[in-house]
Amino acid sequence: MRQDQFLTVLSRDEALARFETALEARPLEHERVALADALGRVVAVSIAPAIDVPPFDRSVVDGFAVRAADVAAASDTTPVTLRPTGETVACGIAPTRSVEPGTATTIATGGPIPRGADAVVMIEWTDPGEDGAILVRRPVAQGGNLAFAGSDLARGEVILRRGTIVGSREIGLLAACGIGEIEVVRRPKVAVISTGDELVAPGGTLAPAQIFDANGPVVAATVAENGGLPIAWGAVPDDEAKLAAALAEALATCDMVVLSGGTSKGAGDYTARLVAKLGRPGIVAHGVALKPGKPLCLAVCDGKAVVVLPGFPTSALFTFHDFVVPQLRRLAGLPPRPEAVVEATLPVRVPSDLGRTEFVMIALAEGADGATVAHPVFKGSGSISAFAQADGFVEVDALADHLPAGTRASVRLFTPNPKLPDLVIAGSHCVGLEPIADALTDAGLTVRILPLGSMGGVQAAKRGECDVAPLHLLHADSGVWNAPFLDDTLELIEGWRRVQGVVFRKGDARFEGRSAEEAVTAALADPACLMVNRNPGAGTRILLDRLLAGRRPEGWGNQPRSHAAVATAIAGGRADWGLAIEAAARPLGLGFAPLGEEHYDFAVPKARADRPAVIAFRAALSSEPVRAALRALGFRPA
Ligand code: AMP
Ligand code: MG
Repeated sequence: MRQDQFLTVLSRDEALARFETALEARPLEHERVALADALGRVVAVSIAPAIDVPPFDRSVVDGFAVRAADVAAASDTTPVTLRPTGETVACGIAPTRSVEPGTATTIATGGPIPRGADAVVMIEWTDPGEDGAILVRRPVAQGGNLAFAGSDLARGEVILRRGTIVGSREIGLLAACGIGEIEVVRRPKVAVISTGDELVAPGGTLAPAQIFDANGPVVAATVAENGGLPIAWGAVPDDEAKLAAALAEALATCDMVVLSGGTSKGAGDYTARLVAKLGRPGIVAHGVALKPGKPLCLAVCDGKAVVVLPGFPTSALFTFHDFVVPQLRRLAGLPPRPEAVVEATLPVRVPSDLGRTEFVMIALAEGADGATVAHPVFKGSGSISAFAQADGFVEVDALADHLPAGTRASVRLFTPNPKLPDLVIAGSHCVGLEPIADALTDAGLTVRILPLGSMGGVQAAKRGECDVAPLHLLHADSGVWNAPFLDDTLELIEGWRRVQGVVFRKGDARFEGRSAEEAVTAALADPACLMVNRNPGAGTRILLDRLLAGRRPEGWGNQPRSHAAVATAIAGGRADWGLAIEAAARPLGLGFAPLGEEHYDFAVPKARADRPAVIAFRAALSSEPVRAALRALGFRPA
């Protein structure tokens, strides 16, 4: 196999500079669209109306068009009598009679002012007189109660400048000027192609070893958010001929081509090699000193950007935002994305690779004394949920190997002005948190759940960085749940009891019909029996460590971070037994030997106990609907 990848890994800035140089600036192309299709589009040519608005002098009240001089002396005690012209000017009626001295024309709001009249008396200031005469009780100034032609917008005045994004108000403005079509910047067509034999379109069914195509939809949506027209190609298998055909068609029909996957070393990865043959100047960067995102490949083929994003969704999105979105917005006639940054404190040490610019995803929360805390969301570049949970990211310089806890960092935000959650729950995760979160949502409060594990949550609570820290920790010496792990800045709120036990596949003769302790003894006796462990710091891990008493059976190193992952490993045959709560085992049809009840409780910083969201949390926890929902999930509320 040829190993010609990543021969020269460039810095982020060098890669970006090469890409931008190769993409010489092109004038924007326009197209005409109907007003109804103009929403969200970018005005390509400044627009000036060909008419005055309003197009004629018109009344702004219901009343009588008069000559102001005629009614100058009018008062309640000495009303002025005017004769009707006999004409009534409603909206859409052009007057034919002029208002001569001593006369008045009945006029509606929006009616054109007749010749001779220079003001309108409101109907409220008049009374009917004998033989149709009009008695006017107040004077009106010249020009009173009328709007002159062009007073709103004058013919030839620019109303929408080039580069304006058309919103509903702009649509109203154009409509008032009678403009039915405008010139807008043509949306750049962006081909979005996922590559990989393992990919299935969302909505389909996964066969073993397959995954859903996440990059295609998220890149297409990001293209649309940034002024482009995504052309969703779907997933192309790792087949050289098929990929070559898709690439050729995409380059011929689109303004930009964005692929993902197939950039790392591997027998099935042809993407970069195919891109290299596509057009001049070809690949300008392959391999960038970035994390996530190292395998990024940037090319320009006959003036069009062709980009191969890394396969892992987080890497794909980061590099897409960083390298491609600016070029796309330029092509779409949009200004650069507004850079929004907040300063926040990192609560924990953030490790980083030396020699690569690293981006760490951040979820913001309100810390002690109103300071903003930047919780890192560590999920690895294979994660898509990290992106969805985060508010922004922190850049760690290539020359730093970590950021110490307590660092003040600039968090670059995905969307400006994110609302900090009203309640941050950080610690051990449990499906039982969902009914509480639902109740708080119904009460108009926003909740963020950060899965930090029991220990991580208690530490965050001690530092005042969360409102509620769920934990299930058994204190080995005292045999007491949870309370011994709190200090006097924290208060314990009882939550619910969960049944922990040994999980196995139904029908496994080593476990079926045994107690939990017998099941573990049987597992340890069989060298072919594979366990699945838990991550350090998890309450379940502490239980497991007690059960194993220092032994490390096969599978011990497999340490997923959730009950659900343990159940999935066993259901899928990756492991034969593990420890999890019944609520995780039951939905997968797994066998379960109960080990005992554990206490799932909450540590709450006393300094935050008065916050409305914390009060609402306690109320929800003890409310009957939430307790019923907890029982339905298999838990026993305290
Ligand atoms: P590759 O660069 O093709 O070797 O892909 C690297 C990793 O990203 C593999 O785990 C792929 O399964 C995954 N991956 C590639 N494309 C996608 C996609 N469109 N959606 C989700 N994951 C993907
Ligand atoms: Mg692949």
